[in-house]
Amino acid sequence: MTLSTRDPLTTQMNAAAESYVKLVLSVGEHDPDYVDAYFGPPAWREEVKSTEASLDSIRSSAEQLLRDLENIQTAREEEIVQLRHRYLTRQLRSLLARLEMLGGNMYSFDEEARALYDAMPPHHPESFFREVLSRLDGMIPGMGTVAQRYDRYRQDFVIPVNRLDDVFQTAIRECRERTRRTIDLPQTERFALEYVNNKPWSGYNWYKGASYSLIQINTDLPIYVDRAVDLAAHEGYPGHHVYNSLLEMHLARKRGWVEFTVYALFSPQSLIAEGTANFGIEVAFPGHQRIDFERDVLFPAAGMHGAEAEQYYSVHSLTGVLNYAHNEAARAYLDGTMNRQQAEEWLVTYALMSPERAKQRVRFIDTYRSYVINYNLGQDLVRAYIESRGGTPDNPSRRWDEFRQLISSPRLPSGLRT
Ligand SMILES: [Zn+2]
Repeated sequence: MTLSTRDPLTTQMNAAAESYVKLVLSVGEHDPDYVDAYFGPPAWREEVKSTEASLDSIRSSAEQLLRDLENIQTAREEEIVQLRHRYLTRQLRSLLARLEMLGGNMYSFDEEARALYDAMPPHHPESFFREVLSRLDGMIPGMGTVAQRYDRYRQDFVIPVNRLDDVFQTAIRECRERTRRTIDLPQTERFALEYVNNKPWSGYNWYKGASYSLIQINTDLPIYVDRAVDLAAHEGYPGHHVYNSLLEMHLARKRGWVEFTVYALFSPQSLIAEGTANFGIEVAFPGHQRIDFERDVLFPAAGMHGAEAEQYYSVHSLTGVLNYAHNEAARAYLDGTMNRQQAEEWLVTYALMSPERAKQRVRFIDTYRSYVINYNLGQDLVRAYIESRGGTPDNPSRRWDEFRQLISSPRLPSGLRT
């Protein structure tokens, strides 16, 4: 006879987690973008495929699971168990919202963002973006609109196609080394890098489990030098690849929390994933370190003059806040107050995109909708949370520490509020 080492609460939570995983997989049978990663038992996927559950039956199972979860009391448990319970409950509510959408009930942009991602996107008036553009106006010489001048200025910073792989491998190596100095990763962690075409995104990390990622980079449009470190850190180290590896190692494997073997793309988890992936860039390169690395290593590798890195990044840093222009375009386009062409024009004017990139971006919005908030709002919420806990720019080691803890735990966007 063997005694169970599991207490009743863990048993209940694990059973709920298994049901949750199967529900996510079931939604994935109706929505090809929903399951971003799964590395749990293959038999569960087979089971879900053969069941062919309808949207209605998935909904009633999800509602039943929600009631079960609400009957589980975790108030006296350690914090991580409370986080687990809250996380599972909120992820499930988001799944119910996605089911509504798949059933044909559309939300407004703001309602959808709240329901799917547990966050309220801010509104920025046009005057906000005009003000940023007027500051850029003085920094970029030449004739024409700021967008046209910016586009011309950046032409000299396109990575030549024959140097692309070398530049990316160099950036990834640097990001990986910096990350491994403070984060223990499994010895076996690795990734494959692929260059692809005809995608609505610029880069993607497909996490396969066992600390292995396939990172794809879209080469449809010219790739500017800043994208090398951005993508290397965002998709790789300490971004998505590390985030998924740590969740797998700490939660799925060590604790046996199976809900972390599945990743539902349209869920609160994505705000944490995208927010930490974006914020991770400045965690990996505190202060002036990024410009130093670009000037000394990456610009020369891309065949550019290192001396221009300083000016390039002072312009680039100002364009960062223009990322919120993506949300305004998406909100207006999805809520029907702008048509496709107007949304593209808005992105050209206020997000300083080339017309081709603006087209790609609206195609992204067609597919991923309010997901766009996860990049900018996610990054700002993550930054505010980490800084409120002492992880300020002048304390890089504390910042790494808070960052590592955040990407190893099941915290929700609403749990980042400070
Ligand atoms: Zn991402």
